[in-house]
Amino acid sequence: MTLMEVKNVQRVFGKGESEFIALNDVSLTIEKGESVAIIGKSGSGKSTLMHILALLDRPTKGEIILDGKDVTQIKEKQLNHVRNQQFGFVFQQFFMNAKDSVLDNVTLPLKISGVPAKRRKELAMKALQQVDLAEKAKSKANDLSGGQKQRVCVARAIINQPQVIFADEPTGNLDSTTGERIENLLFDLNQSQGITLIIVTHDEDLAARCDRKIRMRDGKIIEEVK
Ligand code: ADP
Ligand code: MG
Repeated sequence: MTLMEVKNVQRVFGKGESEFIALNDVSLTIEKGESVAIIGKSGSGKSTLMHILALLDRPTKGEIILDGKDVTQIKEKQLNHVRNQQFGFVFQQFFMNAKDSVLDNVTLPLKISGVPAKRRKELAMKALQQVDLAEKAKSKANDLSGGQKQRVCVARAIINQPQVIFADEPTGNLDSTTGERIENLLFDLNQSQGITLIIVTHDEDLAARCDRKIRMRDGKIIEEVK
């Protein structure tokens, strides 16, 4: 079953002389439950494509279809809703509130969705158990190691029971052993819960673990490997 389609997407940054075509006529279909790596050199347009798929950015041209519905033009409020309810995010730079507790970081997406405090805590503890960090719930986010931080980010990503996890260089800041633990977590979620995984990476080994590899160069898809 098809989850998402992008059709003839272009993303242009800047105007006039400084115009830059970051995505040039990209078309791609994502099936439900698959794991997809978006791979390519730095600057090839991987993150730009992920941001478009994740509805974090809008294309200059082209269409985005999610669950059979054209979402290209939907209003910002609805986009926020879709992202909150259906997507989880893991980024290389973690993007945590360093001074807040682990628990507060994990519950944030639920707070945005208006879930009551008690329920937020229950769900957060469950998510933290899944990443084996329940005992760190009260620690300050900043006091964790890089690998622990990224596990907290995975917990935050799954708290809304998302349909898709978007991960942009999720192991980019981690040593290889710690990175592998994060990879294993992500692939476990894909296998056991059917969460679709879209991973931006320039790590060929990580990409090889995915069902499919989309290789980009200069804003175009140059190769798709199953
Ligand atoms: P990758 O993730 O593959 O390293 P990106 O998708 O981040 O590449 O960027 C692709 C190209 O688009 C790069 O040349 C980058 O400088 C440019 N780019 C990305 N975002 C912006 C932006 N907001 N404004 C201008 N140029 C951008
Ligand atoms: Mg990038």
